[in-house]
Amino acid sequence: MHELALCESVLSILQGQAKTQQFDRVKTVWLQVGALSCAAPDALDFCFRAVTAGTLADGARLEVIRTPGQAWCMRCGETVMLGERYDPCPQCGTFEVQVTGGDEMRIKELEVE
Ligand SMILES: [Zn+2]
Repeated sequence: MHELALCESVLSILQGQAKTQQFDRVKTVWLQVGALSCAAPDALDFCFRAVTAGTLADGARLEVIRTPGQAWCMRCGETVMLGERYDPCPQCGTFEVQVTGGDEMRIKELEVE
């Protein structure tokens, strides 16, 4: 259900932009999704189709760009990359990490007509 909510917010952003930038159709959406956002690309694609059916983005292609997760490791005292939210620090293996980035989602680019 998480992905459904994400896609609904993407659609409302598209509708808002369609008004301000005056386009009628969205052909492709490049969506930047943080690795820690817990959104599965397959589920995103499925939900995107369901949510956009009959809208300005009906039949649009969704391109998901995964961005790595970032965390601060208290043990190492530096920023490390995380593949998943509950992964340990890749350097020291402890769980003394605080997520600092990579859990966001934003529209990177749009192809419209
Ligand atoms: Zn560490």
